[in-house]
Formats: sequence, C-alpha cells, structure tokens
Amino acid sequence: MNLYTFLLRTAAASPDAPCAILPSGVTWTYADVAAGSGRYANALIASGLKPGDRVAVQVEKSAEAFALYLGCLRAGGVFLPLNTGYQKSELAYFIGNAEPAVIVGTPDKAAIIAEIAPAAARFTMHESGENTLLGAQSTFGADFKTVARTDDDLAAILYTSGTTGRSKGAMITHRNLAANAETLVDFWGITNRDVLIHMLPIYHVHGLFVALHCVLRAGARMYFEPKFEPKRARALMQTSTMMMGVPTFYTRLLLDAEFSKADCATMRLFVSGSAPLLAETHVEFSARTGHAILERYGMTETGMNTSNPLVGERIAGTVGVPLPGTRVRVRTEAGEICAEGTKTGPDSEIGGIEVKGANIFPGYWRMPEKNAEEFTADGFFKTGDMGRLLANGYVQIVGREKDLIITGGLNVYPKEIEEKMDALPGVLESAVIGVPHPDFGEAVVAVVVPQAGAALDGAALIAILKTDLAGFKVPKRVHIVAELPRNAMGKVQKNVLRQTYAAL
Ligand code: AMP
Repeated sequence: MNLYTFLLRTAAASPDAPCAILPSGVTWTYADVAAGSGRYANALIASGLKPGDRVAVQVEKSAEAFALYLGCLRAGGVFLPLNTGYQKSELAYFIGNAEPAVIVGTPDKAAIIAEIAPAAARFTMHESGENTLLGAQSTFGADFKTVARTDDDLAAILYTSGTTGRSKGAMITHRNLAANAETLVDFWGITNRDVLIHMLPIYHVHGLFVALHCVLRAGARMYFEPKFEPKRARALMQTSTMMMGVPTFYTRLLLDAEFSKADCATMRLFVSGSAPLLAETHVEFSARTGHAILERYGMTETGMNTSNPLVGERIAGTVGVPLPGTRVRVRTEAGEICAEGTKTGPDSEIGGIEVKGANIFPGYWRMPEKNAEEFTADGFFKTGDMGRLLANGYVQIVGREKDLIITGGLNVYPKEIEEKMDALPGVLESAVIGVPHPDFGEAVVAVVVPQAGAALDGAALIAILKTDLAGFKVPKRVHIVAELPRNAMGKVQKNVLRQTYAAL
C-alpha cells in the first residue's frame, strides 16, 4: 500500500479535523492536506515524474514543503530531502549519486542546481512556500488518485547526516515507514486528541518521519513551526500535549529560569532522540517540570529501534527497550551474540548493536559492497553503535564504533570517560576523542565545557580521574572550551574535534 494511504486512513474519516496549525494562525485541516498534496502530485506528474523517480528537495521548512513531501509519496516518487545547509560540492555529490528527475531548491541555489543538473526538471520554493512547481496561480487540481506502491518500493532516500565519513543514501521503503509509524503511535499512546509541537527540521528522520507520521497516522494535530525557539515552545505548551526534540531543545528550555511545571499543565509527553540526552538534563527537567523525558533510539537507516516506556520507568542514560517488532542484540568483540531482550542475568558485555525488523532499511543506494558489509548473514543491520543490554531489558548506548579509541592496543569507550568527566564538579559536558600518538597509536584527549561561572583546570581534572580509572583510559590532555561543535541534529561532531586536535 502507498504509505500516504496508510498514514491518512484514520484521518480520512474526519476531513474537517485540524492537522497543522501554522505560525500565521492559519489551520490546515486534513481536507486541506489532501488537497495540497494532490496539487503537488499533479504538478510532479506534469513535470514528467514517473513512479520510482527521485525528487530532491532542498527547501526551508514550510507547510508547502510538507504538502510537497506528501504529494511526492502520492505520485509514487522517491523523496530525497536535503539539509538546507549543504553547499555546491555536497549538492553535486548527492545529485550525481541519486540522479533525481525533479529538483526543488531555494531560489538562491537555482543557478548552482542548473549547473549541476541541467537535465533535471528544476523548480524553486521560497521559505514563504511560494514556488514555481505549482506556479503563482496554481492550475493544478486538488484531486489525485494516489499511485499504488508495493511495500518494498522506495518512499525516500535519506543521505546519512553522519558525523564522520562519506554520506550514503539510505533507501527507505513504504513498509519501513508504515511499520515504524504504527509501532510508535501505539507505543507512545498517540491519539487524535494529541497536539504536537513540531519544531524539528523536515529533512531528517526525526522531524520528517517520526513526528509527521505519528501525527498523521493518529489523526492528531501539530503546531508546525519553522524551527525551535524556546520562548515560543513554552508558549505553545499551554495548548499542546506532546513535544519531540533533540537534547538541545531540553537544555535550552532549562536555560529559561522561569520555565516550570505551570508551563506544562496540558503536556503529557516529551520525547528526546537523535543524540544522547545527558542524565543531568533528564534529572533537571524532571525536577523542574515533573516530566521524565522519554528517550528513544533510532537512526536514518532503521527508524526507531528502542524506546523508554510510556507507562513504566524511563531510565536516564538508557534508550529503553526494543520496540515491538524490532529485534535488538549485541555482538561482542569476541563475536559472541548476547541474547535479545533477556530480562535475567547480568548486564551484557559491550558490543556492536545489531537490529532486525520491518523498520530496517533494505540497503544503501547503489552501494552493494556496503550492504554486504553492514548486514549479517541472518539479516541484522550493524548499526555501528556500541552498547550493552542491561539485566532489566533496557539498552544502553556507550558510543559509536568509529569513536572507539585504541590506545596502546587497549580499547577505550569514550562514553565511559565522558560520564566520569561530566560528573566532576564544574563540568557541564565533555567529548573524548583519540588523536594520533607516535607511541600509543592513539592518545585519549578530553574536550570539556565548564558549567556557567566555573573555572576548570585540566591538570586537576586529570589528577581526579587518575584515582578512578585505569591509567590508559585517563585523558593525556584536557582542553577547556566554551562549547562543543554540533551538527544540525545536535550531535557532537567528533570528526571536527579530531581534526582540531590532530596535531596535538
Ligand atoms: P541519524 O541517522 O542522523 O538519526 O543518526 C543516528 C545515530 O544517532 C545513531 O546511530 C546513534 O549513534 C545516535 N542516536 C540517536 N538517538 C540516540 C540516543 N537516544 N542516544 C544516543 N545516541 C543516539
């Protein structure tokens, strides 16, 4: 079934129900969403799109961009959203690799896109939503018979935002997205009475799939905002029930000393993901608002894999339990596979997290060699995340495989050192990396952000850690910085840090 049909099935029964409340105060009902997406589907077909063709979209977030996404699904296109920050060489790579038949970009990139892809059907969309695809006086009708798709057809290709290495196009099917939407709506108890604060970008799995699909599938409504703005989020909370955010949303909300329980009177759920939520943030948010942030874990290639529970304990520093329908296991360095979801016995050893389920993508676009490497013989995807299965059935992430530091032949998991460092007085957060070392291969280095007003001394921090950790794990150097480099989704860019300190 076409994902669009699947997502809109509940809402189809109540076309007058509100779907998206826009910053202007205008509300799009579900009937408006159907009409808007129908127009875009008609326009895409008129531009020459055939089912299976890619539609590359690099535009600012707007209600029109949302309708374009749904129109693309309806026309049988493969949606290829691109971060608006990407520049010419990056665009040339994505466009060259994906060969989209249609490209919709911001007006300022029109000349660049024409140069890169002279043969593609090219359109522009302004942040106001005004665009050349529909044209000034749209002549495209709202009626459109959604194109049939099989579960295995591609709905989207998302280039992994990754903090390291070359981007790969993750192929995502109609089945992957339908399965994950169904699971999340159920697991998080989302209904048509929910009102979501949508402040995430829609070029990424979190804002595009998790947030939008949950709203649509449940027939719920959302405040559809261009970006995260803490004061605005606080104001919208007065009439909302849910927020989905990256950890930075929560740390920024907490910076507002007046943010309190009173702001959250109607809220029932705060979800965090895309990057690790500091346990400290979880604890402070809970003290301030009475809400335990629900942390979940997923990635572009897999959608959501694990989640803390709606009812039951949300444990800070863990990403919860495997979602129904998703199998999660850990493969230790010795190759031993730790049983999935065991709720007895000790915590498992640390190892690579592997996942399997209807939510897992079929592979990378035009990279058969990568696919052979990144799936096991029995069909599990190797996430590249390192973690352990706790005795209570919860999953804990301890870092990325690529972040693993090997110093003098000994493995150091940065997360372990970061947790110790973060717990020291005056430390707000830290990132631990390996830098080239003539003797050890790599040496452990910590980059540390102090709490407001705290004066830190790197040598003193090292001295304290020496009393608590094996010598090879203790950072050889500590750098104190005002903030850590982060990508658009709030992930610390360890590759940037590794470059900065490479010559150390
Ligand atoms: P992306 O594909 O951009 O969503 O990035 C996925 C990666 O983000 C995962 O492989 C993890 O490394 C990281 N990630 C996502 N959610 C969490 C979380 N709750 N805790 C720790 N890491 C996370």
